[in-house]
Amino acid sequence: MSEIHKFLFEGLPVRGVLVRLTDAWTEILGRRASASKAGAYPLPVQNLLGEMVAAATLMQANIKFNGALILQIFGDGPVKLAVAEVQPDFGLRATATLIGDIAPQASLSELVNVGNEGKCAITLDPKSRLPGQQPYQGVVPLFGDQREKLDKLSEVLEHYMLQSEQLDTTLVLAADDKVAAGLLIQRLPLEGTGNLEGSRVSQRNEDEIGVNEDYKRIAMLASSLKREELLTLDVDTILRRLFWEESVIRFEPLSGADGPHFSCTCGRERVSRMIQGLGEPEAHSILAERGEIEVGCDFCGAQYHFDPIDVAQIFRKTGDVPPASSAVQ
Ligand SMILES: [Zn+2]
Repeated sequence: MSEIHKFLFEGLPVRGVLVRLTDAWTEILGRRASASKAGAYPLPVQNLLGEMVAAATLMQANIKFNGALILQIFGDGPVKLAVAEVQPDFGLRATATLIGDIAPQASLSELVNVGNEGKCAITLDPKSRLPGQQPYQGVVPLFGDQREKLDKLSEVLEHYMLQSEQLDTTLVLAADDKVAAGLLIQRLPLEGTGNLEGSRVSQRNEDEIGVNEDYKRIAMLASSLKREELLTLDVDTILRRLFWEESVIRFEPLSGADGPHFSCTCGRERVSRMIQGLGEPEAHSILAERGEIEVGCDFCGAQYHFDPIDVAQIFRKTGDVPPASSAVQ
């Protein structure tokens, strides 16, 4: 069963989240293997996407944001795009678009950052977005401070957290064909957001970056967690082994109906809006060529079919062509 565990270290400015995805992850892989013409993901892509899903779930659990958290990698190598999306109820989905061959041992750079153009984006899309309001998006390159290529997704995201939230964060991520899992350890921001106090607190918070001893000790313990341990051990064993000398306060785990689960937000209505976005002449030209418009969802494998009558209804309902949009989902 897929599960999220949150915890605190008693009296210390440090919190943690541990995520273990089993059924939610294997469903993503199973749907890809059975629905896509491309077939199952090559091993390195499977592992990258699993780490992305685990990381996106960790971040969603950590920030309590009322909207979708979308983690994307725009690659310049054989992985053109990889997406993991997690809703506030921990409904999650993921997909990757591949072009060209992938070596069995391909690294992160070889997958998405061959020509130094790869990028990682984290988008927060509020549930009740006002018309015209843009979602918040942060973009980070796949490089470290010395312009060295990063070959771990966890390092890319640690950089992002430091830049966007001024908070030290340690991430350990791992995935195989059965489990996608992750551990997040983060230094808590200092309390107080009053006007005058705010700037002083924020300065003190920045002063704490990289120097808080309690955080450094716990982060080092977390970093000692091996990939195999994260994938195979249960959550209680992991936390006991890593932090047996610390006083850990656990919260009620989120699992079952409240926990992470596969869920796709696509639907016929959304695809209709996409066809609207194409415009009537384009829609008719596809109909003339193929007799119907067929749109498939990359996330869940659903196929949507629109015959000439369906298409006529779409344009009759709306009259004029609205601004173009290429987003299916
Ligand atoms: Zn779908």
